[in-house]
Amino acid sequence: MTVKLLGIPYDAHSSFLRGPAQAPAAIRAALTCGSANWCTESGRDLNPATTDGWLDLGDLDLPEEVEAAVAAIRSGAAAAIDDGSTLLSLGGDHLVTWPIVQAMANRFEGLTIVHLDAHPDLYDELDGDRFSHACPFARIMEAGLADGLIQLGIRTMTPHQRTQAERFGVEVHELRDWDGVVPALSGPVYLSVDVDVLDPAYAPGISHYEPGGMSTRQLFDTIRQIEAGGATVVGADIVEINPDRDINDMTAMAGAKLVRELLGLLLNSREAVR
Ligand code: MN
Ligand code: MN
Repeated sequence: MTVKLLGIPYDAHSSFLRGPAQAPAAIRAALTCGSANWCTESGRDLNPATTDGWLDLGDLDLPEEVEAAVAAIRSGAAAAIDDGSTLLSLGGDHLVTWPIVQAMANRFEGLTIVHLDAHPDLYDELDGDRFSHACPFARIMEAGLADGLIQLGIRTMTPHQRTQAERFGVEVHELRDWDGVVPALSGPVYLSVDVDVLDPAYAPGISHYEPGGMSTRQLFDTIRQIEAGGATVVGADIVEINPDRDINDMTAMAGAKLVRELLGLLLNSREAVR
């Protein structure tokens, strides 16, 4: 039982650009490039050569065809948490969150999902595609996989997605109105981080530029608040980094720092429930 890291290189149903399938390799390269140390901001050392708190499972080998890919992601995530481990996944585009949450919901009852994103990803379908990376939270909520969905960073609501949010009882905190306070969380929490929650000035290596986003500092302070609130975080993902669009690996480096902070959050969560 530990915290496991799993790469999920899949982007075949991205609506605009391919590229996020290359993100797990880019994030791992940034993690090990030697320009930063392995410590979280709170000082927990995650160096895999000298600590054994977490385990890198490598990347899933996925087919292109979407239904087969979804099934393979679901079984890969289920296998990772079968021994009681918690999981940090590296996408891939945001579609991957749906099968991961299918596996999580089987193991942890009463999940609350905290979803950080510029986009609500609640489309029933986009361009006729129900497997689009713009739809995962519609698939999750219509299947009853989570008791609650809290969205932070949102700045692209459409009338259809507003209707969907009401239909599913989603707690949407649009960034323009947000006071920076994370709502109180209870029960097992799953955290999904679409890196386009950041302003493209901080993270240009994404497919959908949506100006007016969070600063990197604001994102890490949000994660710190979730940790300080004492929530039991059982899984997290980092999705939508597109290395084709990155500049000087700055988004890959932000992804690598997110890996460290989220591994720290998951490890601290485990220790708190023991
Ligand atoms: Mn998304
Ligand atoms: Mn997004």
